[in-house]
Amino acid sequence: MIAGMSPAPVADLHLHSLHSDGVLAPAALMRLAAERGVERAALTDHDTLEGCAEAASAALAVGLRFTAGVEVTASWNAQTVHIIGLQPRLDDGALQAHLAAIREQRRQRLLDIGERLEHRTRGARKPVPGRTLATLACASSPVPTRLHLARALVEAGFSADVGAAFDEWLGHGKPGYLAEHWPSLEATLAVLRSAGAEVVLAHPHRYRLSSGALRRLLEEFTAQGGCALEVGVAGISPNDLDRLATLARRYGLAASTGSDFHDPAVPWNPPGRFAKLPADLETVAARLR
Ligand code: AMP
Ligand code: MN
Ligand code: MN
Ligand code: MN
Repeated sequence: MIAGMSPAPVADLHLHSLHSDGVLAPAALMRLAAERGVERAALTDHDTLEGCAEAASAALAVGLRFTAGVEVTASWNAQTVHIIGLQPRLDDGALQAHLAAIREQRRQRLLDIGERLEHRTRGARKPVPGRTLATLACASSPVPTRLHLARALVEAGFSADVGAAFDEWLGHGKPGYLAEHWPSLEATLAVLRSAGAEVVLAHPHRYRLSSGALRRLLEEFTAQGGCALEVGVAGISPNDLDRLATLARRYGLAASTGSDFHDPAVPWNPPGRFAKLPADLETVAARLR
């Protein structure tokens, strides 16, 4: 740290509540974040802003600075990418309509995955009642994700834990894997920018992209008004951290930090736990209200 400068506040800008595939209510999530030393928290549920009002008042009560957010599902060149919008106008009609359409697509996709699982395991020693499990998963959340279906598979005894459910059933190339086509990167950035959001590309190291393709993605992301890359994430390797920091500098992007917390039963990414940013990077937190 440079003498006389105070350390940057701990900003966890990637958190999920039960409004998508997290398990805590927004108020409980904010209290846990504050207890764990987080100083600024963003609620970034998948494809919904529903929990933001509750989180905002709970954060106020515990002295935590709060940022409303959303993690939007998008497609770029057949790759699913997650785009985080921070502090959008919550009453923006175009953004609300965009998110509602994705939620409807998610519901249909989960039912399609369930049908595929059932079809692919018909006649097997232990056939998967995929349609029933998908219906249960859809009923369990207004934003049904594969994590809900993974939990239903675990609950019904088809996998030992959710990680195994992805490895055995839902992941790329597995019986329940379906190609997906979400709204484009361009449409996603346009709707987030017009709602006044700061736009962050989530977990860039996790996409199945070559380094050349990732550079092309970042060129388009930057040209379309994206402002930051998630660099300080939980569990990232030193090598990936270094690679993302280099890309942030190269494209003039700010850096974001966040745990991607979903569930207190998962020990490795509680709120506030993520890799420290190299000191020279501009933080997205510094741009927030
Ligand atoms: P979806 O957006 O419906 O494709 O669901 C993806 C969600 O499932 C992510 O947001 C994670 O919360 C979770 N997820 C994805 N892969 C895994 C995995 N291997 N183990 C546990 N959770 C996962
Ligand atoms: Mn998730
Ligand atoms: Mn994500
Ligand atoms: Mn997330």
